[in-house]
Amino acid sequence: MQTDQIPSRRRTVPVAIGNVTVGGDAPVVVQSMTNTDTADEVGTAVQVADLARAGSEIVRVPVNNEAAAAAVPHIRERLEAMGVDVPLVGDFHFNGHKLLEQHPACAEALAKYRINPGNVGRGARRDTQFAQMIETACRYDRPVRIGVNWGSLDQDLLARMMDDNAALHRPRDSREVMKEALIVSALESARRAEELGLGHDRIVISCKLSGVQDLIEVYTDLAQRCEYPLHLGLTEAGMGSKGIVASSAALAVLLQQGIGDTIRISLTPEPGESRTHEVQVAQELLQTMGLRAFTPLVAACPGCGRTTSTYFQELAGDVQSYVRERMPEWRRHYPGVEEMTLAVMGCVVNGPGESKHANIGISLPGTGERPVAPVYEDGEKTVTLKGENLTDDFKALIERYVERRYGGYSAGSGETTATGS
Ligand code: SF4
Repeated sequence: MQTDQIPSRRRTVPVAIGNVTVGGDAPVVVQSMTNTDTADEVGTAVQVADLARAGSEIVRVPVNNEAAAAAVPHIRERLEAMGVDVPLVGDFHFNGHKLLEQHPACAEALAKYRINPGNVGRGARRDTQFAQMIETACRYDRPVRIGVNWGSLDQDLLARMMDDNAALHRPRDSREVMKEALIVSALESARRAEELGLGHDRIVISCKLSGVQDLIEVYTDLAQRCEYPLHLGLTEAGMGSKGIVASSAALAVLLQQGIGDTIRISLTPEPGESRTHEVQVAQELLQTMGLRAFTPLVAACPGCGRTTSTYFQELAGDVQSYVRERMPEWRRHYPGVEEMTLAVMGCVVNGPGESKHANIGISLPGTGERPVAPVYEDGEKTVTLKGENLTDDFKALIERYVERRYGGYSAGSGETTATGS
């Protein structure tokens, strides 16, 4: 994407969360959430480390009971021992005021507290318990996320707003009132937190819903009504492609309007699937939109009747995996490599053209073509591969390209290792 095509971000107040900044001029931050029992400090520390190594820049952990609160400081210690400094966010519902009060080491170990105004308490207790959590945040100088959720909207507020609406000459649709209640819940809670002494630059807001159009509408409105950084996420997005598509559809529309300072893709993992998949999807969303770069992107055609063997899919998969595997080391030695683009194409129809647009691309022979595969580097055909070792030969060319282009060596000797031409 051209720089002038990248949307300018909505102006927000930057909020420091541990060593990460959300909002202001900071890039859109990727975050995720654990699904281990937080009381299992070993299992949770390992998953947090996995998520952080996959690229999650903030990790949220549920703090739902005494055992979880007691485990949090030990999780933090284990992460330090593993060399993982990712900020931990505590996710509190119902009893957060007590847990933070009774577990000062937990309050200290967390870099941010997520407070859901709908799950702080009902009636008279609500304000007191909310105030207790904010006072703890002030005492430990921690930011909070006021995280409102469609599924746990403040029922007292909603009832009040529904009554007010019913008394109108022309009442609004109840769904519209609910969406307005989400925004009011977030903004009133933020205002209350500031009245209690929390800094204006210590608040992040989210208003999560599970419907794509609803989410876009609420965040578009919310963005115009405050300057707090916004955390984006489609709640209950679901599994597999549905979850990915729904989240991407909603978040892409908002990000394209410059709305969103941090994102999470709330995927339900398939059985046996790594939790880190949600991090990969979040990174890919930001990268394909041209907002950030994390890992070289591999463009591949979908294949068609011109590619009758599975060889093409296998090569595309191999190259994608190879790039991911090599990235931890490449990142250390080759700054800028995350912006590299690759192409693996199935035949001569679009193969040479697409490959020329990539930093390095290969165009495989389709059915009926000569069994050779031209390779293009920076738009120029440099070599033609053929034979049994084509996959390994192409990986070797990628490795050489990375070293030459991003390793500070002079580019363009034109020499390549190849099995044929
Ligand atoms: S590049 Fe060739 S193989 Fe790939 S989709 Fe297009 S026509 Fe089919």
